[in-house]
Amino acid sequence: MIPRDKGLFVTDSYKPGVTLYSESLQTKPNTVKLIITTIFVLTSLVSFGQSPVLDDLWKLYGSRDYDKVIEKAKPHLDNDSIKVDLNLLLGRTYADKADFKTAIPFLEYTVNNTPDNSWRKAWALGYLGACQFMLQNYNDSRKVIKECFDLNTTKNVSRYAYSKILLFGFDDFYKDWKIVESEHFRFHFQHMDDSDIESYIASREAAFQNINIFFDSELPKKIDFFVWNSKEDAKELLRTNLGFADPHFCIVHSHYQQTIGHEMTHVISNYSTNMIQKTGLINEGTSVCFDQTNQDKEQIVKDWLKNNDKKLTISDIWTNWKNYPDELTYPLAGLFVKELIDNFGKEQFIEFFSNQTYDNAKSVFGDKLDKLINDFENEINI
Ligand SMILES: [Zn+2]
Repeated sequence: MIPRDKGLFVTDSYKPGVTLYSESLQTKPNTVKLIITTIFVLTSLVSFGQSPVLDDLWKLYGSRDYDKVIEKAKPHLDNDSIKVDLNLLLGRTYADKADFKTAIPFLEYTVNNTPDNSWRKAWALGYLGACQFMLQNYNDSRKVIKECFDLNTTKNVSRYAYSKILLFGFDDFYKDWKIVESEHFRFHFQHMDDSDIESYIASREAAFQNINIFFDSELPKKIDFFVWNSKEDAKELLRTNLGFADPHFCIVHSHYQQTIGHEMTHVISNYSTNMIQKTGLINEGTSVCFDQTNQDKEQIVKDWLKNNDKKLTISDIWTNWKNYPDELTYPLAGLFVKELIDNFGKEQFIEFFSNQTYDNAKSVFGDKLDKLINDFENEINI
């Protein structure tokens, strides 16, 4: 079976920056909300302490240009009227760029200097919980994320907290799961016999080392690897199909029968470089390529094309990934990525991997890329 990654928890589908920016306008008192004119919104920004500086910085944060946010925010840190907001902004920025230790004092400042009913406090707690999780302080993480959820300030932040409670394994549903740590993983087993656990862990550890020979990644923490016994339970609790990874948080949720390498490759590859833009073709193709199975992907693709009487072009799949069925795209992408790696080598591939668009491929691989694509299409479209 081809693994699928769909639903709520797929990485990069959630853009907290954009959410918070609009939320800061939404959390005015009801009287303000009723009068929807630009002028009034502008007035409310002033009267509720929002400043143009802050406005611009949140916009910049929304565009994920984190280094620039830090550079532009720091000179304003002594400005008392926006200090709480700036600390929240900087805390979130450092957390999103995976500098979790640096993020914590900024977030703590906001937590300690805002009232309980403030969305600022709730977001700071939520992010603090995420940072503690990444530093493997699991009890602290659980405590502050639950505190964030219990504050119940706004829908967005409560949803953020609840998604982390589910994703991080803090929901009561997980309370009987068995946690076992190994060198690179912290496994959570829904139900598995001890002897099976031992061989399960051994095979995942071997796969990790094997895959990381290529990527040479340094992960910020062990991979929290949730091994579900029941796909139905996962669907009911998480509202999504297994398996999936959240690479930023080094998390995998997988059914015990799924491929050994696919989801962990999402996590490992994510930390091989500074990720700028992912595409389905390259990101999924990479995980299929390293899934540690011996599937004859070429045959699967050729059979599909024959049975459906179709020919394909890589450029269209690259830009319109979601228009094609997974049973074609996953093996096809795996084959294509293997072709890139075989032709251009590890170093160039990882250089390209951070920005997985065709344009960047062209600039890293040069003119040879189009010839490779052409040959690949001729080979597949017979
Ligand atoms: Zn995947």
